[in-house]
Amino acid sequence: MSKPIEILVLGAGPNGLTCASYLAKAGAKVKVIEKNVESGGGLMTQELSGLKLNSHAMYMLLSELMPPYRDLELSKFGLKFIRPEVQNSFLFEDSSLILYSDIEKSVESVRNISPTDAETFRNLYNLFKQASDEFIIPATYMPPVDPLEQIEMLENCGDLGRWLNELAELTPREAIEDFGFKDDRIVGALLYLASMFGLDPDGGGMGFLTPIYVYRLMQATLVAGGSHQMASALRRSLERFGGEVVTATEVREILVSNNKAVGVKLDDGGAIYADVIVSTLNPTQNFNELIDTSLLPGIVTESAAAWEYDETSLFVMNWGIVGDPPVYNNRPNDLSRSLNVTFGINGPNDVTAHFEDATNNVAPNGKVGHVSCPSIFDPLLAANHLKEYGNCEVLRYECLAPYDIDWVSYKNELAARAFDTWAKYAPNLKNANLRIELPWTPKDIERHLPTMKRGAIKHGAYISIQMGYNRPNMECSSYKTPIEGFYVGGASTHPGGMVILGGGYNVAKVVAADWDIDIWWQVPDTVKAAVAKGYLPDDQ
Ligand SMILES: Cc1cc2nc3c(=O)[nH]c(=O)nc-3n(C[C@H](O)[C@H](O)[C@H](O)COP(=O)(O)OP(=O)(O)OC[C@H]3O[C@@H](n4cnc5c(N)ncnc54)[C@H](O)[C@@H]3O)c2cc1C
Repeated sequence: MSKPIEILVLGAGPNGLTCASYLAKAGAKVKVIEKNVESGGGLMTQELSGLKLNSHAMYMLLSELMPPYRDLELSKFGLKFIRPEVQNSFLFEDSSLILYSDIEKSVESVRNISPTDAETFRNLYNLFKQASDEFIIPATYMPPVDPLEQIEMLENCGDLGRWLNELAELTPREAIEDFGFKDDRIVGALLYLASMFGLDPDGGGMGFLTPIYVYRLMQATLVAGGSHQMASALRRSLERFGGEVVTATEVREILVSNNKAVGVKLDDGGAIYADVIVSTLNPTQNFNELIDTSLLPGIVTESAAAWEYDETSLFVMNWGIVGDPPVYNNRPNDLSRSLNVTFGINGPNDVTAHFEDATNNVAPNGKVGHVSCPSIFDPLLAANHLKEYGNCEVLRYECLAPYDIDWVSYKNELAARAFDTWAKYAPNLKNANLRIELPWTPKDIERHLPTMKRGAIKHGAYISIQMGYNRPNMECSSYKTPIEGFYVGGASTHPGGMVILGGGYNVAKVVAADWDIDIWWQVPDTVKAAVAKGYLPDDQ
């Protein structure tokens, strides 16, 4: 038997663990190098006094639709998704919009607020769902397609294809307003869903991402036991096939000999050698810092130097309380079982203002954002605490936030303001005994994950010159780099950030094909269907 290919994966975030698991299961000898003491990257759950707090990613958009869920049999390794029936709700001055995983119930809620918008909402949902299921999600799990080829293919794909091409020219706001809603509150709510992870509501050419955020934020899930359980499942799958994660070890240099990547230098002065290196780090790290830049073409180093990090970051506040979950005063009962409740948005201008404040370094005031009590869906989040104190819950607030403000002096004040706003709607929270408070600022995000420079949760802004074929640059968007044996596959590659496992999944196949490693997994049925319908090329 020939010696197995040795592969180093840099970064044990969702993409690194995914790539490593596929290649380990294919028989390669895989080692993941992770700077932090724990694997997981953005899949981080901190346990304080028995309460489990998700300080990074919490809402899973693609959940069981992600091919690794099935291919890597992640449910066998402990991954379970929880999908609340009531998904996202919005508190307006004198009314509430409640969006459910069941479209009919959502339509009725829209009808209660704005009867003329009910059928418009249904049309939007159906079209966004179809566009996501038939094109956007399949396109997530294959390498990016040349933009001109893509436009031509879509143009020949009937009404949906042509509409997708038009969408690619619009801003998220235009993509929603185009449906002709009469009530600004509905537009504001939908636009908030599109941009709550930092997509610019007025970003030119970003309309094509609107369907997936809006539709999937009505089908979102939590990971049972906390988001980190997904990282644990991926890691268990990796270890089951002989892979290894080396934690608390930072990569300081990528070693290259004769234009071939041969290993990495570590923070303890040691080195590890391998045949292949797959990095899930950001472009600054990959092409400006860790590698001798004289070995790379100017176009790669220059595009990395010009790389734009996300224009906004997030502020996340977790509280562990002794007390009851929020009960909303004079509002529909279903609000109390909503995964998310958003306040401060009464129309699209509020969404734009919230985004612009964050990009212009205006400190958030705690009057806009979304709140959640995840422990009502997942008692495991507060299980240990309950025994000791009785009725405990985990509460969470999140909003867009700037990087460049004095977070040390402001974070507790912002948390208190947000709690006050929440308690105005749910007065029973005033009786809660706040036992644990965990503010998490853009600076904390960057400190914990250097990949998220300036708190960039997607490793780089979603602007048209940094998407698809241009992510991270034209030379490397195929996941290969000009250095032989050196690949990239993190959130700064297609399809981008969020816990959708696309970069890790796609780069694994490219590496396997290049190194004659067994591609044991099947092309997903959704991709086959998109190819059969002519939306995507057949280059699988
Ligand atoms: C506050 C917050 C909330 C979010 N909410 C959501 C959400 O609700 N839903 C969602 O889908 N997504 C969410 N995200 C985004 C999501 O977490 C990221 O886009 C995703 O984690 C990117 O995955 P990745 O594997 O590419 O990179 P990362 O998760 O960044 O992982 C990269 C890993 O590389 C390690 N690393 C960095 N430098 C080195 C080095 N030199 N040597 C060794 N290791 C190194 C890091 O420590 C990290 O573990 C959120 C992110 C944040 C910060």
